[in-house]
Amino acid sequence: MPRRRCQVRGVVQGVGFRPAVYRLALARGLTGFVWNHAEGVTLEAQGTEADLADFERALQEIPAPARVQSLVGEAIDEVPGEADFRIRESGQGEAPRPVVPPDLALCEACAAEVDTPGERRYRYPFTNCTRCGPRYTIIEGLPYDRPRTAMKAFPLCPDCEREYRDPLDRRFHAQPVACPACGPRLALQGADGILRAEGEAALAAAAEALRQGAVLALKGLGGYQLLVDATAAAAVGLLRSRKRREAKPFAVMFPDRASLLRDCEVSPEEAAWLASPEAPILLLRRRPGGAVVAEVAPGNPRLGAFLPNTPLHRLLLAAAGRPLVCTSGNLSDEPMAFEDDEARRRLGGLADLFLSHDRPITRPVDDSVLRVDADGPTLLRRARGFAPLAVTLGLEGLSSPCVLALGAHQKNTVALLKGGELVMSQHLGDLTSLEGSDLLARTVDDLLAFFGARPELLACDLHPDYASTRLAERLAAEWQVPLVRVQHHHAHGAACAAEHALTGPALALTWDGTGLGSDGTLWGGEALRLQGAAFTRLGHLKPFPLPGGAAAVKQPRRSACGLLWAVQGAGAPPPPLAAAFDGAEWEQLQTLLAGAFNSPLTSSLGRLFDAVAALTGLHARGGFEGQAAMALEFAAGERVEAPYAWDFRDGTADPAPLVAGVLADLAAGRDAGFIAARFHAALADLALAWAQQAGLPDVVLSGGCFQNALLTARVQQKLGGAGFRVHRHRAFPTNDGGISLGQAAVAVLTTVDR
Ligand SMILES: [Zn+2]
Ligand SMILES: [Zn+2]
Repeated sequence: MPRRRCQVRGVVQGVGFRPAVYRLALARGLTGFVWNHAEGVTLEAQGTEADLADFERALQEIPAPARVQSLVGEAIDEVPGEADFRIRESGQGEAPRPVVPPDLALCEACAAEVDTPGERRYRYPFTNCTRCGPRYTIIEGLPYDRPRTAMKAFPLCPDCEREYRDPLDRRFHAQPVACPACGPRLALQGADGILRAEGEAALAAAAEALRQGAVLALKGLGGYQLLVDATAAAAVGLLRSRKRREAKPFAVMFPDRASLLRDCEVSPEEAAWLASPEAPILLLRRRPGGAVVAEVAPGNPRLGAFLPNTPLHRLLLAAAGRPLVCTSGNLSDEPMAFEDDEARRRLGGLADLFLSHDRPITRPVDDSVLRVDADGPTLLRRARGFAPLAVTLGLEGLSSPCVLALGAHQKNTVALLKGGELVMSQHLGDLTSLEGSDLLARTVDDLLAFFGARPELLACDLHPDYASTRLAERLAAEWQVPLVRVQHHHAHGAACAAEHALTGPALALTWDGTGLGSDGTLWGGEALRLQGAAFTRLGHLKPFPLPGGAAAVKQPRRSACGLLWAVQGAGAPPPPLAAAFDGAEWEQLQTLLAGAFNSPLTSSLGRLFDAVAALTGLHARGGFEGQAAMALEFAAGERVEAPYAWDFRDGTADPAPLVAGVLADLAAGRDAGFIAARFHAALADLALAWAQQAGLPDVVLSGGCFQNALLTARVQQKLGGAGFRVHRHRAFPTNDGGISLGQAAVAVLTTVDR
């Protein structure tokens, strides 16, 4: 009898791949075995030529969440007397390849069990199978087997054991398998740590407290979340004040599809994402008259919406009977709490009650955030469901060396590039707090141990004070490996280029908040020519001063003050900007500017957005970074107006005519939407001017400004219409979450250039 051996790579562990192989072999009467190991899955099968060919075809089509990236088969010698097809135990101790399953949202079959009275797992909050459930959040090492997960503390009961051993069962080798008899249990505690209820009673009491307006800390899949009634303004306000989060939008989880559709518009593509195993938060257009109060996302035409992705969420949302705000359990810029003691300590002042359980979380993984634009999806936060899937970068010659890139400072991620495959950590968030920099160090240790990687090259930002830079310096000294410092916006451009397998030359339009430039000023409105590991600054926004430096990031009126100073010198604030300044503040800032004291120069486009938003009176005070830009985007809506002009010389874009235009429109009483539309049109013109100057067919768009869907669409239309190939981020964030990818790509390219 013919016999073949196949090596299968891809997402083939922790997703029911071996049982699927087993069933396919059984159906064709084949003998042999399948074996899980650090490199992926190997199988040998023996049978007729026709059955073997049919078997290999079927292997390629094993459905999601499994994903076969490569299948290499070869004929080998017959094994006489083989009687059956077996699943062998996993090998141990080999260096694992970076293929680790991400966490998967509750599947339909498990949801049906949870909903059906009489089922063994009726209303059991930790139901899962080979197609769904926790993965990355419980794995401690590879290969992925129960003794190397957080489920090792839960011995299987005889019923679960039987399912786990039965190759024809949906739970065959489902590592997190559990039931009410043997698995994790719910407990409800007060902020005082005193146990209030367990099991069903805990769930019911938590739901009732939410309906009464309480803030609930819920131990979710990848960490603690804070929940309140999304239909009650008072509850949302309470959460905002306790979390010290004034205006930043909250995500809302809906009990089911029907309730979500009452609040949001959903396209077929968006519906598919909502029901996907990744089940991200989707930024959906709000419908008027929905149940969710405006305070959840003030002034925002979109709502971050998602559906229950675990049985626990499903049961809790159903019991509460209404949409709930569901946000990371943290205080403003700190990372999400995920360990029980830590959560109790950090969230004790934020939450009234803790709904928790005894399954440990191995590492924190936040919810992912995705938006579907006219030309496809944009991932704005890469975390649950995506991390830590390895992505093969299509760049040639990237077979070596192993690079670790530590990212920037906000919305941070870490990236490991090895053999052309990139593993990006889950979103880690800001590194400002002690907890943030601890999480960074921990994630690096975790990724290296997990993937058995020994970096030969390190990459970080130019900024000397980022926690990520300091860690990179320490590790470089400790490991005696070179450290490549990559300019912030170079990394942005390189990230988008790497995502689209471009090694240059290409034009990168990196429009962003601020990052340290090679000349010591703050960059952020850049036109960079990328070529291999190098870049040339072809153009930039003409720098203007930021009175008070970093304080300007959260006070858009300061950017407006600095911009006016640069354009027209000293003077009084024009209305409506004047209203944004208290007492002598304007004069104090003018003094700073006149003395060039604590007023760093910036070419940041993010700060230009802030300045224009403040000038128009849309948004001048406080809030979160990007809020002013969002106000302009939303004010412009779909309006198309004539662009403002630029004074464009040798790549330097002087916004003086633009500022004059804004002031003239304000004086003429034009509304903010009109000005915002003209401003977006002007930025599309600027993109075209730089593209024509560069004369390169490929243009990549990156940086935080391109989170703005309107700006991105206008720039794409303008450049596409002029014949340029425009590339934007898809699978990686355009904000600083994508920086680690760009740093890794630049570091590797430095070795290719040599
Ligand atoms: Zn399932
Ligand atoms: Zn059990």
